[in-house]
Parts: sequence; structure tokens; C-alpha cells
Amino acid sequence: MVKVILYGFTVGIFSSRKLQRACQENLAFKYLAGMETPAFKTFIEFRRRHREDMKAVFVSTVKLARALGLARLGAVALDGCKLGANTSKHKAMSYGRMQEEERGLKAEIEGMLKKAEHPGEPIEGKKQIPFADHDARCHSKKGEGTEYVYNAQAGVDMESRIIVENHIEDSVQDAHAAGPALENMERDFGQPPEKLVADAGYGNKDTLEACRENEVTPVCATRREGKEGAQAGKLDSFSYERGEDLFVCPHGQVFDSDHERPKDGKRAYRSREVVACECSHYRTADGRGVITVHPGHLAKREFNRIMGEAGHKELYRRRKCTVEPVFGQIEDGMGRWWRIRCFGRRSLAGWPPMLNY
Ligand SMILES: [Zn+2]
Repeated sequence: MVKVILYGFTVGIFSSRKLQRACQENLAFKYLAGMETPAFKTFIEFRRRHREDMKAVFVSTVKLARALGLARLGAVALDGCKLGANTSKHKAMSYGRMQEEERGLKAEIEGMLKKAEHPGEPIEGKKQIPFADHDARCHSKKGEGTEYVYNAQAGVDMESRIIVENHIEDSVQDAHAAGPALENMERDFGQPPEKLVADAGYGNKDTLEACRENEVTPVCATRREGKEGAQAGKLDSFSYERGEDLFVCPHGQVFDSDHERPKDGKRAYRSREVVACECSHYRTADGRGVITVHPGHLAKREFNRIMGEAGHKELYRRRKCTVEPVFGQIEDGMGRWWRIRCFGRRSLAGWPPMLNY
């Protein structure tokens, strides 16, 4: 069964009925099925029963590839893709309204919440929960309205183009996906990649911290392509000394690290001397200037510094032709059927690594 299903993935046959027919008509399928002709219901039942085991099969394929010297986990490109969910926004309602209809729906809601959220996490009254796919999230795109999507994340080994990690993000944003991706690679292969290559959607403090924790070098853009140079802030004209943690304004004033504001995590840097220029955000009574720096700004500076290291710009450019074709192939090859049918939703473990050569 596994052979038949996996081979089905590689040639674009996913539905149980089509697999049944293939086992009757197609020589390759007949051979793999040992000349048996399983009924489509058997495929359905097999998938349902072995959902968890199938995840392990995909991880094993990557382990095998690693044993053969492929998928070294040198540089892994991470990207996300919004896949349409098999649910209708018209069939979702706000949690607030659900509560109003509590009597009839109570049991259903409880089951739904358990599935939709991490245990213990409060749900906002307005949060839309789709009925059919609890992991789908509402996503609005200009001109296209709102629809339910999965934010599917895939990590692709850039050398071998093998998918080494996948998960469904809990948010439509990619911003927090790096941490779970690195954890999954650590769990599955006992080590994280050397480098994580990602676009500006990941260029934030969380990604930087996740990479530091796992001793991974993040090769990450901080601005969307085509938007370079846009919206340069006051601080962008400052230079930053990483070793001493100080900023220098264009007029040569030195701002030393002073304190971190507990309420928002912003860091205050105070000038050594009384300032004459307008670079500081405000001045204290003694005439010294203070700049407040968002932690994200420091993260961006760090990403830019790393991007400037030898070979990293070139590596980042290669990301585009590594990870994006993977999503292209998945969408082309699998079409709408791909949406949720494979092997469970939370993991979408149906990402067949071998689809990518
Ligand atoms: Zn200045």
C-alpha cells in the first residue's frame, strides 16, 4: 500500500478511486501492488489508520537521502505558501456568536476549540473559526477578498532540493515560523542546518533568537524585494558598533546603551555628551540625547551584517530557485485535490520529499 500511495504521489494520482483504477490498469501500479487490486475504501482506511506512521515514512526518506550523502543540511531555505483550505468563510461564525447559541452547540464548540487552539490559550470573541478545517486561518488579500488558507511552511535543503521540514503555521504570517522549523529539524535529524535562508517575512527578532538558540546562521533579507531604500528611518543613518553596543549618529555623537524599557522591550541609548544635532528622539534635562531602539531594529542590523558576509548574497539569490519551485510543483502537480486530502491537516505530511527530484 505504501509503495502504491507514494508512487501515486510522484505521478500525480492521489484519489483513492484513481489509485484503485491504476492498480487495475497501470502496469507500474500493478507491479507495486503485487498484482493485487485493493478497493478504494481500503486506500481510504489505510490512510486514516496510518496517518501518523506515514509522517515517519517521509522523515525516513530524508534520513535515507542523508545517509546517501544528500540533504546535508548545509543551507536550508524556508518559505511559506498559502494553500486554500477546504472550507467556506460563510460556514464559519464568530466565537462570540457561537456562545450565544451555546445550548445546541456546546459540545461541538468544545471539541472545536480543543482542535483549533493550543490548550489553555484564550480565544478572542471575534476570532473566526472555520467548521471544516480547524487549522485553517482567515487571510485577506487585496482584490481577492477573504478566504481560509493554510500557511504551509517548507524547509528545502538547497543543495539537494529535498524537503527536510514542513509544518502548518498557526498564523498567516511567516514571522514566527523559523523557531518551529528549526525544532522539527533538530527532532527529526538530531541537528539543525548550518544556515537558514529566508525572505523578509522572517526578518525579525524571533527568527534571530531561534537561530541563535540553535546555533544556526540566519541568511535573511530585511526588506521586500523591490522595496529597497524605502522608508529609511532616523536610525538607519546611524552606525552601530556591535561589540560595544553603541550607536554613532552622522554627526559623530556616540550613544551608549542605557537601559531596556520593560513595557515594550525597546532599548534606550543615551549620548555621552550634550547634543546639538537633531538626531536623538528626545533629550533629558542635562541636554543629553536619547534614542529608543526597537528590538526588531537591532535584529535587522544583525541580518544585514550577516548578509554582508562572503557568499551570503549569492546564497540568498539561489533561495528563489530552490524553495519556490517546490511550492510551484506541489500546486501544479497536486492541484486542488492537494488541499487537505493527503494525510492529515496539522502536518500536511503528504509533502512528498521525492517530488523534488
Ligand atoms: Zn547627529
